[in-house]
Amino acid sequence: MALTGTYAGTFEGIPVYESRYFGYGLNSAGLALPGIGIFVGIGTFSKKLDIHTVMHEYGHFLQFQRTGWLKFYICIGLPSLLSAWFNWHKSGHQNYWTETWCNHLCKSYFSNIVWPEKRFPSRDINDKTKYWLVKRNLTFEPDDTLPNSPEIHSE
Ligand SMILES: [Zn+2]
Repeated sequence: MALTGTYAGTFEGIPVYESRYFGYGLNSAGLALPGIGIFVGIGTFSKKLDIHTVMHEYGHFLQFQRTGWLKFYICIGLPSLLSAWFNWHKSGHQNYWTETWCNHLCKSYFSNIVWPEKRFPSRDINDKTKYWLVKRNLTFEPDDTLPNSPEIHSE
């Protein structure tokens, strides 16, 4: 599948692309590819029709900061895609652990907004998972301490 999208600006410094493959506005699917950018549906970001989906995708970049390339793509990216495709979690993809951890990081990062918990349930990972997944030398935790409002630059 060729990933084609229209560049729509940056979100927190990450390039955002819109593509009809991901749907439209509020009914948008999303994809986060560290090294490339965030992909969402048409109007989702540029018309601000569903900024929470963009925030959620940014949450996968927050995971990437903590895990690094290999663990992100193997332990998070791949299972997350498979969960979305095959509906692994009985309560829906947003309840799969890769997603609830992603939302947990979003919730503390975007602490200036009321996180839409119903739609994007948040839960931290347990200590054991954290031990093998998160970089040991992670010394900075700016995301968890500073209140942030999303920084948006539209094209
Ligand atoms: Zn996700």
